[in-house]
Amino acid sequence: MKTPSSLEELIAALRCLPGVGPRSAQRMAYHLLQRDRPGAERLGAALTRVLAKTRHCEKCNSFSEESVCELCRSPRRDASVLCVVESPGDLLMMEQAQCYQGLYFVLMGALSPLDGVGPRDIHLDRLVKRATDGSVKEVILATNFTVEGEATAHYVGELLRSRGLKVSRIARGLPVGGELEHVDSGTLAQAVVERREV
Ligand SMILES: [Zn+2]
Repeated sequence: MKTPSSLEELIAALRCLPGVGPRSAQRMAYHLLQRDRPGAERLGAALTRVLAKTRHCEKCNSFSEESVCELCRSPRRDASVLCVVESPGDLLMMEQAQCYQGLYFVLMGALSPLDGVGPRDIHLDRLVKRATDGSVKEVILATNFTVEGEATAHYVGELLRSRGLKVSRIARGLPVGGELEHVDSGTLAQAVVERREV
C-alpha cells in the first residue's frame, strides 16, 4: 500500500529535526496520527504560532516575542558585562548556573569555514556594535570548547580587543570538546568565576 502524500510530506518534514532518521520520522508520524491526534493539533498550532511571534532580540540576538527581550530590559542585570554564547540553550545553561549577572549576546552558531559559516553568519557586525555602544566594559567569551567554539572565541577576542574592550574567556573546567549545554551547572559556574583575560 502506498503512503498518502500528505503523510509522506510529514515524514519528510520531521527529518529536519536533529538525530531523526527515516525510521524514527515514520514512527513519529504514525504515532501522531494513530494515537495522539490532539497532540498533533497542538504541535501544529504551536509551530505556526512560534514562527509568527518569535524574532531575534535587537540587543542580545536571542529569541524574543518583543523587539528587546525581558532579560535585556531587566534593570537588575549588570550592563557593563556582556557574555557571548553560541546558542539560546547555552544562555539558559548560564542562567541556571546562577553565576552571572550581566547581559548576553547569542551568536546563533560558531565560525566553521569548512561548513561555510563565516563572521557574517554569526552576526559579528551586530556583536561589535553592541559591545562598543558605550555601556559594555568587559566581554566574556563563553563559546564551547570545541574546535569551532575555540576558533570563534579567538576571532571574536581579537576583534573586540582591537576596539579597546577587556575580553576574557571562561576557564577550562569544562572538558575539551565539551558543549556548554551538556555540562552540569556547578562546573559551568566555576568556569565563569575562573575566567581568564585573553
Ligand atoms: Zn535580549
